[in-house]
Amino acid sequence: MTAPARADVILVGGGVISCATAYFLAKEGLRPLIVEREAIGFGASGAAAGLLSPLADLRGEGPTTELGLVSLPLHRELAQTLPAESGIDYHFAEIPVLRPAFNDEEERDLREAVLCQQALGLDVSWADQDGLLQVDEGLVPEAQGALHSRVEAQVDPYRFVLALTAAVEKMGGAVHYAAAVGLQAKGGRATRVRLADAATLEADNIVLAMGPWTPQAEAWTGLSIPVEPLKGQLMRLQVLQGPLPAAAVFWGKHYLLPKPAGYILAGTTEELVGFDTQPTAEAREAILESALRFMPALEDAVITEHTACLRPLAADQVPIIGPAPGWDRLFIATGHGRKGILHSVATGRIMADLILRGQTDVVEIAPFSPARWGG
Ligand SMILES: Cc1cc2nc3c(=O)[nH]c(=O)nc-3n(C[C@H](O)[C@H](O)[C@H](O)COP(=O)(O)OP(=O)(O)OC[C@H]3O[C@@H](n4cnc5c(N)ncnc54)[C@H](O)[C@@H]3O)c2cc1C
Repeated sequence: MTAPARADVILVGGGVISCATAYFLAKEGLRPLIVEREAIGFGASGAAAGLLSPLADLRGEGPTTELGLVSLPLHRELAQTLPAESGIDYHFAEIPVLRPAFNDEEERDLREAVLCQQALGLDVSWADQDGLLQVDEGLVPEAQGALHSRVEAQVDPYRFVLALTAAVEKMGGAVHYAAAVGLQAKGGRATRVRLADAATLEADNIVLAMGPWTPQAEAWTGLSIPVEPLKGQLMRLQVLQGPLPAAAVFWGKHYLLPKPAGYILAGTTEELVGFDTQPTAEAREAILESALRFMPALEDAVITEHTACLRPLAADQVPIIGPAPGWDRLFIATGHGRKGILHSVATGRIMADLILRGQTDVVEIAPFSPARWGG
Protein backbone atom coordinates (compact mmCIF):
# COMPACT_ATOMS: atom_id res chain seq x y z
CA MET A 1 0.00 0.00 0.00
CA THR A 2 1.27 3.52 -0.76
CA ALA A 3 1.95 5.59 2.35
CA PRO A 4 0.22 8.96 2.73
CA ALA A 5 2.51 11.77 1.50
CA ARG A 6 2.37 13.42 4.94
CA ALA A 7 1.32 12.26 8.40
CA ASP A 8 0.61 14.12 11.63
CA VAL A 9 2.87 11.64 13.42
CA ILE A 10 5.13 8.89 12.08
CA LEU A 11 5.88 6.10 14.55
CA VAL A 12 8.86 3.96 13.59
CA GLY A 13 8.27 0.36 14.77
CA GLY A 14 5.11 -1.73 14.87
CA GLY A 15 5.38 -3.06 18.44
CA VAL A 16 3.01 -2.52 21.35
CA ILE A 17 4.58 0.79 22.43
CA SER A 18 4.21 2.36 19.00
CA CYS A 19 0.72 0.95 18.39
CA ALA A 20 -0.58 2.09 21.81
CA THR A 21 0.81 5.59 21.17
CA ALA A 22 -0.77 5.65 17.70
CA TYR A 23 -4.08 4.55 19.25
CA PHE A 24 -4.24 7.44 21.75
CA LEU A 25 -3.16 9.94 19.08
CA ALA A 26 -5.87 8.70 16.71
CA LYS A 27 -8.41 8.96 19.55
CA GLU A 28 -7.64 12.67 19.67
CA GLY A 29 -8.19 13.12 15.96
CA LEU A 30 -4.62 12.85 14.62
CA ARG A 31 -3.68 10.60 11.70
CA PRO A 32 -0.70 8.51 12.80
CA LEU A 33 1.37 6.45 10.39
CA ILE A 34 3.11 3.35 11.78
CA VAL A 35 6.24 2.36 9.81
CA GLU A 36 7.15 -1.31 10.39
CA ARG A 37 9.80 -3.24 8.48
CA GLU A 38 8.48 -6.79 9.14
CA ALA A 39 4.96 -7.21 10.53
CA ILE A 40 2.89 -5.71 13.34
CA GLY A 41 3.87 -7.56 16.55
CA PHE A 42 6.93 -9.10 14.86
CA GLY A 43 9.13 -8.51 17.95
CA ALA A 44 8.52 -9.39 21.59
CA SER A 45 5.14 -7.62 21.42
CA GLY A 46 3.66 -10.48 19.43
CA ALA A 47 5.28 -13.28 21.41
CA ALA A 48 5.27 -12.15 25.05
CA ALA A 49 3.38 -13.94 27.82
CA GLY A 50 0.97 -11.02 28.33
CA LEU A 51 0.82 -10.88 32.13
CA LEU A 52 -0.02 -7.41 33.42
CA SER A 53 1.93 -7.48 36.68
CA PRO A 54 3.17 -4.26 38.25
CA LEU A 55 4.69 -6.15 41.19
CA ALA A 56 8.12 -7.19 39.93
CA ASP A 57 9.58 -5.01 42.63
CA LEU A 58 7.86 -6.76 45.50
CA ARG A 59 8.09 -3.70 47.73
CA GLY A 60 6.35 -1.47 45.22
CA GLU A 61 9.08 1.15 44.85
CA GLY A 62 10.63 3.07 41.95
CA PRO A 63 9.40 4.80 38.77
CA THR A 64 9.05 1.57 36.77
CA THR A 65 6.76 0.02 39.37
CA GLU A 66 4.79 3.28 39.52
CA LEU A 67 4.36 3.24 35.73
CA GLY A 68 3.02 -0.31 35.98
CA LEU A 69 0.65 0.53 38.85
CA VAL A 70 -0.77 3.39 36.77
CA SER A 71 -0.96 1.35 33.57
CA LEU A 72 -2.86 -1.64 34.96
CA PRO A 73 -6.14 0.25 35.68
CA LEU A 74 -5.76 1.97 32.29
CA HIS A 75 -5.63 -1.53 30.70
CA ARG A 76 -8.83 -2.43 32.56
CA GLU A 77 -10.49 0.74 31.25
CA LEU A 78 -9.30 0.11 27.68
CA ALA A 79 -10.55 -3.49 27.79
CA GLN A 80 -14.08 -2.07 28.13
CA THR A 81 -13.93 -0.41 24.70
CA LEU A 82 -11.05 -1.62 22.49
CA PRO A 83 -12.46 -5.08 21.61
CA ALA A 84 -15.63 -3.46 20.23
CA GLU A 85 -13.74 -0.59 18.56
CA SER A 86 -11.33 -2.97 16.83
CA GLY A 87 -13.50 -6.05 16.33
CA ILE A 88 -10.74 -8.12 18.03
CA ASP A 89 -11.15 -9.90 21.39
CA TYR A 90 -7.66 -9.95 22.90
CA HIS A 91 -8.63 -12.13 25.87
CA PHE A 92 -8.21 -9.59 28.66
CA ALA A 93 -8.81 -11.48 31.93
CA GLU A 94 -8.11 -11.16 35.63
CA ILE A 95 -5.68 -13.81 36.93
CA PRO A 96 -4.74 -14.62 40.56
CA VAL A 97 -0.98 -15.03 41.06
CA LEU A 98 0.94 -17.16 43.57
CA ARG A 99 4.54 -16.32 44.47
CA PRO A 100 5.61 -19.42 46.42
CA ALA A 101 8.25 -19.76 49.14
CA PHE A 102 10.24 -23.01 49.18
CA ASN A 103 12.40 -22.10 52.21
CA ASP A 104 12.36 -19.86 55.30
CA GLU A 105 14.36 -17.05 53.67
CA GLU A 106 11.94 -16.85 50.73
CA GLU A 107 9.01 -16.93 53.13
CA ARG A 108 10.44 -14.06 55.22
CA ASP A 109 10.97 -11.92 52.08
CA LEU A 110 7.50 -12.64 50.72
CA ARG A 111 5.76 -11.99 54.04
CA GLU A 112 7.50 -8.57 54.12
CA ALA A 113 6.35 -7.96 50.55
CA VAL A 114 2.77 -8.76 51.55
CA LEU A 115 2.94 -6.01 54.20
CA CYS A 116 4.47 -3.47 51.77
CA GLN A 117 1.91 -4.22 49.08
CA GLN A 118 -1.00 -4.12 51.53
CA ALA A 119 0.26 -0.69 52.66
CA LEU A 120 -0.10 0.40 49.00
CA GLY A 121 -3.74 -0.74 49.14
CA LEU A 122 -3.13 -3.82 46.96
CA ASP A 123 -5.27 -6.94 47.38
CA VAL A 124 -2.62 -9.47 48.46
CA SER A 125 -2.33 -11.88 51.39
CA TRP A 126 -0.16 -14.69 52.70
CA ALA A 127 -1.50 -18.19 51.93
CA ASP A 128 -0.19 -21.02 54.10
CA GLN A 129 -0.31 -24.65 52.89
CA ASP A 130 -4.05 -24.96 53.64
CA GLY A 131 -4.67 -21.66 51.85
CA LEU A 132 -2.77 -22.93 48.80
CA LEU A 133 -4.96 -26.04 48.66
CA GLN A 134 -7.99 -23.78 48.53
CA VAL A 135 -6.58 -21.85 45.55
CA ASP A 136 -5.65 -24.99 43.58
CA GLU A 137 -4.90 -28.48 44.90
CA GLY A 138 -2.36 -29.22 42.18
CA LEU A 139 -0.19 -26.09 42.37
CA VAL A 140 3.17 -25.69 44.19
CA PRO A 141 2.73 -28.81 46.41
CA GLU A 142 6.29 -28.44 47.83
CA ALA A 143 5.82 -24.80 48.86
CA GLN A 144 5.55 -23.80 52.50
CA GLY A 145 3.23 -20.92 51.56
CA ALA A 146 2.86 -18.17 48.96
CA LEU A 147 2.11 -14.53 48.41
CA HIS A 148 -1.39 -14.70 46.96
CA SER A 149 -2.18 -11.71 44.76
CA ARG A 150 -5.54 -10.74 43.33
CA VAL A 151 -4.06 -7.67 41.62
CA GLU A 152 -2.95 -8.87 38.20
CA ALA A 153 -4.61 -9.37 34.82
CA GLN A 154 -3.49 -10.66 31.42
CA VAL A 155 -4.02 -10.27 27.67
CA ASP A 156 -3.09 -12.18 24.56
CA PRO A 157 -0.33 -9.74 23.52
CA TYR A 158 -0.40 -10.49 19.78
CA ARG A 159 -4.15 -10.02 19.59
CA PHE A 160 -3.76 -6.86 21.72
CA VAL A 161 -1.30 -5.28 19.25
CA LEU A 162 -3.54 -6.27 16.35
CA ALA A 163 -6.55 -4.73 18.15
CA LEU A 164 -4.70 -1.43 18.72
CA THR A 165 -3.64 -1.34 15.06
CA ALA A 166 -7.08 -2.21 13.71
CA ALA A 167 -8.60 0.59 15.83
CA VAL A 168 -5.95 3.05 14.59
CA GLU A 169 -6.78 2.16 10.98
CA LYS A 170 -10.52 2.53 11.61
CA MET A 171 -9.88 6.02 13.02
CA GLY A 172 -7.97 7.12 9.90
CA GLY A 173 -4.38 6.13 10.75
CA ALA A 174 -2.33 3.73 8.64
CA VAL A 175 0.53 1.21 8.61
CA HIS A 176 3.31 1.34 6.02
CA TYR A 177 5.60 -1.68 5.66
CA ALA A 178 9.18 -0.47 5.12
CA ALA A 179 12.45 -0.24 7.02
CA ALA A 180 13.36 3.22 8.29
CA VAL A 181 17.06 3.99 7.75
CA GLY A 182 17.40 7.61 8.83
CA LEU A 183 15.89 11.02 9.42
CA GLN A 184 15.94 14.31 7.56
CA ALA A 185 15.95 17.51 9.58
CA LYS A 186 15.56 21.25 9.13
CA GLY A 187 17.15 23.43 11.83
CA GLY A 188 16.98 20.78 14.58
CA ARG A 189 13.46 19.73 13.63
CA ALA A 190 13.05 16.16 12.35
CA THR A 191 10.80 16.48 9.31
CA ARG A 192 11.12 13.24 7.36
CA VAL A 193 11.83 9.54 7.83
CA ARG A 194 14.11 8.01 5.20
CA LEU A 195 13.20 4.49 4.05
CA ALA A 196 15.41 1.69 2.75
CA ASP A 197 14.15 2.20 -0.84
CA ALA A 198 15.36 5.86 -0.70
CA ALA A 199 11.80 7.23 -0.42
CA THR A 200 11.05 9.68 2.42
CA LEU A 201 7.89 10.24 4.47
CA GLU A 202 7.06 13.65 5.90
CA ALA A 203 5.56 14.21 9.36
CA ASP A 204 4.91 16.96 11.89
CA ASN A 205 6.14 14.65 14.68
CA ILE A 206 8.30 11.52 14.68
CA VAL A 207 8.38 8.80 17.36
CA LEU A 208 11.22 6.27 17.53
CA ALA A 209 9.85 3.05 19.08
CA MET A 210 11.86 0.24 17.52
CA GLY A 211 12.19 -1.90 20.67
CA PRO A 212 15.67 -3.43 21.03
CA TRP A 213 16.57 -2.04 17.58
CA THR A 214 16.08 1.61 18.72
CA PRO A 215 19.86 2.19 19.13
CA GLN A 216 19.99 2.19 15.29
CA ALA A 217 18.75 5.75 15.71
CA GLU A 218 21.92 6.76 17.59
CA ALA A 219 23.51 7.19 14.14
CA TRP A 220 20.47 9.16 12.92
CA THR A 221 20.30 11.52 15.89
CA GLY A 222 23.74 11.66 17.53
CA LEU A 223 22.05 10.71 20.82
CA SER A 224 22.92 7.96 23.27
CA ILE A 225 20.05 5.41 23.44
CA PRO A 226 21.48 2.66 25.68
CA VAL A 227 19.07 -0.21 25.08
CA GLU A 228 20.07 -3.82 24.53
CA PRO A 229 18.21 -7.00 23.60
CA LEU A 230 17.40 -9.30 26.54
CA LYS A 231 16.45 -12.69 25.12
CA GLY A 232 13.54 -14.57 26.70
CA GLN A 233 12.30 -18.07 25.92
CA LEU A 234 8.76 -19.36 26.37
CA MET A 235 7.08 -22.75 26.01
CA ARG A 236 3.46 -23.46 25.26
CA LEU A 237 2.08 -26.51 27.07
CA GLN A 238 -1.18 -28.25 26.25
CA VAL A 239 -2.75 -30.04 29.20
CA LEU A 240 -4.44 -33.21 27.99
CA GLN A 241 -6.55 -33.91 31.06
CA GLY A 242 -8.15 -31.85 33.81
CA PRO A 243 -8.73 -28.11 34.07
CA LEU A 244 -6.12 -25.37 33.69
CA PRO A 245 -4.58 -24.19 36.97
CA ALA A 246 -6.67 -21.63 38.88
CA ALA A 247 -3.72 -19.22 39.31
CA ALA A 248 -0.45 -18.21 37.70
CA VAL A 249 2.77 -19.06 39.56
CA PHE A 250 5.83 -16.77 39.64
CA TRP A 251 9.14 -17.71 41.26
CA GLY A 252 12.32 -15.81 40.32
CA LYS A 253 12.35 -15.53 36.53
CA HIS A 254 10.32 -18.73 36.12
CA TYR A 255 6.55 -18.82 35.77
CA LEU A 256 3.46 -20.71 34.68
CA LEU A 257 0.64 -18.69 33.17
CA PRO A 258 -2.67 -20.36 32.24
CA LYS A 259 -4.15 -18.66 29.16
CA PRO A 260 -7.91 -18.26 28.56
CA ALA A 261 -7.47 -19.87 25.13
CA GLY A 262 -6.85 -23.20 26.90
CA TYR A 263 -3.06 -23.67 27.19
CA ILE A 264 -0.29 -22.83 29.68
CA LEU A 265 2.76 -20.66 29.03
CA ALA A 266 5.93 -21.63 30.89
CA GLY A 267 8.87 -19.24 31.00
CA THR A 268 11.41 -17.80 30.91
CA THR A 269 15.06 -16.88 30.53
CA GLU A 270 16.99 -13.61 30.69
CA GLU A 271 19.95 -13.88 28.31
CA LEU A 272 22.28 -11.12 27.09
CA VAL A 273 23.30 -12.79 23.81
CA GLY A 274 22.81 -10.01 21.25
CA PHE A 275 20.12 -10.47 18.61
CA ASP A 276 20.16 -14.29 18.74
CA THR A 277 16.59 -15.66 18.81
CA GLN A 278 17.29 -19.41 18.67
CA PRO A 279 15.41 -21.46 21.30
CA THR A 280 17.87 -23.67 23.21
CA ALA A 281 17.73 -27.15 24.77
CA GLU A 282 19.28 -25.78 27.97
CA ALA A 283 16.47 -23.25 28.46
CA ARG A 284 13.87 -25.87 27.66
CA GLU A 285 15.19 -28.10 30.44
CA ALA A 286 15.37 -25.32 33.01
CA ILE A 287 11.87 -24.04 32.20
CA LEU A 288 10.35 -27.53 32.27
CA GLU A 289 12.06 -28.38 35.56
CA SER A 290 10.44 -25.37 37.25
CA ALA A 291 7.10 -25.98 35.53
CA LEU A 292 6.96 -29.50 36.95
CA ARG A 293 7.90 -28.24 40.40
CA PHE A 294 5.03 -25.74 40.20
CA MET A 295 2.52 -28.26 38.81
CA PRO A 296 3.55 -31.95 38.82
CA ALA A 297 0.51 -32.89 36.70
CA LEU A 298 2.25 -31.22 33.76
CA GLU A 299 4.26 -34.44 33.40
CA ASP A 300 1.60 -35.49 30.86
CA ALA A 301 1.37 -32.13 29.03
CA VAL A 302 2.39 -31.77 25.39
CA ILE A 303 4.88 -29.06 24.38
CA THR A 304 3.29 -27.41 21.36
CA GLU A 305 5.65 -24.44 20.93
CA HIS A 306 9.06 -23.19 22.09
CA THR A 307 9.92 -19.61 21.12
CA ALA A 308 12.49 -16.93 21.89
CA CYS A 309 12.29 -13.16 21.42
CA LEU A 310 14.00 -9.98 22.55
CA ARG A 311 13.00 -7.49 25.22
CA PRO A 312 14.30 -3.91 24.88
CA LEU A 313 16.26 -3.40 28.11
CA ALA A 314 17.40 0.12 29.05
CA ALA A 315 20.85 0.38 30.67
CA ASP A 316 19.30 1.51 33.99
CA GLN A 317 16.22 -0.74 33.51
CA VAL A 318 13.92 2.32 33.46
CA PRO A 319 11.89 2.88 30.26
CA ILE A 320 12.93 5.76 28.00
CA ILE A 321 9.92 7.95 27.25
CA GLY A 322 9.85 11.55 26.07
CA PRO A 323 11.26 14.22 23.74
CA ALA A 324 14.67 13.57 22.17
CA PRO A 325 17.05 16.14 23.71
CA GLY A 326 18.29 18.83 21.30
CA TRP A 327 15.60 17.96 18.75
CA ASP A 328 12.27 19.55 17.97
CA ARG A 329 9.18 17.30 17.52
CA LEU A 330 11.24 14.08 17.81
CA PHE A 331 10.32 11.57 20.56
CA ILE A 332 11.66 8.26 21.89
CA ALA A 333 9.64 5.46 23.55
CA THR A 334 11.50 2.25 24.31
CA GLY A 335 13.37 0.26 26.96
CA HIS A 336 10.34 -1.31 28.65
CA GLY A 337 12.21 -4.56 29.27
CA ARG A 338 10.09 -7.30 30.85
CA LYS A 339 6.98 -5.10 31.22
CA GLY A 340 6.26 -3.52 27.84
CA ILE A 341 2.80 -5.05 27.43
CA LEU A 342 1.83 -3.80 30.90
CA HIS A 343 3.41 -0.36 30.40
CA SER A 344 2.09 0.17 26.89
CA VAL A 345 -1.21 1.85 27.81
CA ALA A 346 0.31 4.39 30.22
CA THR A 347 3.19 4.98 27.79
CA GLY A 348 0.77 5.53 24.89
CA ARG A 349 -1.18 8.04 26.97
CA ILE A 350 2.01 9.84 28.08
CA MET A 351 3.33 10.04 24.52
CA ALA A 352 0.02 11.35 23.15
CA ASP A 353 -0.02 14.00 25.92
CA LEU A 354 3.57 15.06 25.20
CA ILE A 355 3.02 15.26 21.44
CA LEU A 356 -0.27 17.14 21.69
CA ARG A 357 0.20 19.25 24.83
CA GLY A 358 3.89 19.13 25.78
CA GLN A 359 3.06 17.79 29.26
CA THR A 360 1.32 14.91 31.01
CA ASP A 361 -0.21 14.12 34.38
CA VAL A 362 -0.20 10.31 33.89
CA VAL A 363 3.02 10.00 35.97
CA GLU A 364 6.00 12.17 36.91
CA ILE A 365 8.01 11.75 33.71
CA ALA A 366 11.44 13.13 34.70
CA PRO A 367 12.84 9.65 35.62
CA PHE A 368 11.97 8.38 32.10
CA SER A 369 13.55 11.28 30.19
CA PRO A 370 15.75 10.36 27.18
CA ALA A 371 17.91 13.31 28.28
CA ARG A 372 19.30 11.36 31.27
CA TRP A 373 22.22 10.20 29.11
CA GLY A 374 23.02 13.72 27.90
CA GLY A 375 22.19 14.92 24.41
C1 LIG B 1 9.60 -14.16 26.60
C2 LIG B 1 9.02 -12.80 26.89
C3 LIG B 1 7.89 -12.68 27.70
C4 LIG B 1 7.37 -11.44 27.99
N1 LIG B 1 6.27 -11.35 28.79
C5 LIG B 1 5.76 -10.15 29.12
C6 LIG B 1 4.62 -10.08 29.96
O1 LIG B 1 4.09 -11.10 30.41
N2 LIG B 1 4.14 -8.84 30.29
C7 LIG B 1 4.72 -7.69 29.83
O2 LIG B 1 4.25 -6.61 30.16
N3 LIG B 1 5.80 -7.73 29.00
C8 LIG B 1 6.34 -8.94 28.64
N4 LIG B 1 7.44 -9.01 27.84
C9 LIG B 1 8.10 -7.76 27.42
C10 LIG B 1 7.39 -7.12 26.22
O3 LIG B 1 7.15 -8.12 25.26
C11 LIG B 1 8.27 -6.00 25.62
O4 LIG B 1 8.66 -5.09 26.64
C12 LIG B 1 7.51 -5.21 24.57
O5 LIG B 1 6.91 -6.09 23.64
C13 LIG B 1 8.41 -4.23 23.83
O6 LIG B 1 7.63 -3.58 22.87
P1 LIG B 1 8.25 -2.54 21.84
O7 LIG B 1 7.12 -2.00 21.05
O8 LIG B 1 9.11 -1.58 22.59
O9 LIG B 1 9.25 -3.39 20.94
P2 LIG B 1 9.06 -4.57 19.87
O10 LIG B 1 7.93 -5.44 20.20
O11 LIG B 1 10.41 -5.19 19.74
O12 LIG B 1 8.69 -3.79 18.53
C14 LIG B 1 9.66 -3.07 17.80
C15 LIG B 1 9.27 -3.14 16.33
O13 LIG B 1 10.10 -2.25 15.59
C16 LIG B 1 10.36 -2.81 14.34
N5 LIG B 1 11.55 -2.14 13.78
C17 LIG B 1 12.81 -2.20 14.26
N6 LIG B 1 13.62 -1.43 13.53
C18 LIG B 1 12.86 -0.87 12.55
C19 LIG B 1 13.14 0.02 11.46
N7 LIG B 1 14.37 0.49 11.24
N8 LIG B 1 12.13 0.37 10.63
C20 LIG B 1 10.86 -0.10 10.83
N9 LIG B 1 10.55 -0.96 11.86
C21 LIG B 1 11.54 -1.33 12.71
C22 LIG B 1 10.57 -4.30 14.63
O14 LIG B 1 10.38 -5.09 13.47
C23 LIG B 1 9.49 -4.52 15.70
O15 LIG B 1 8.28 -4.99 15.14
C24 LIG B 1 7.98 -10.25 27.48
C25 LIG B 1 9.09 -10.37 26.63
C26 LIG B 1 9.61 -11.62 26.35
C27 LIG B 1 10.80 -11.70 25.45
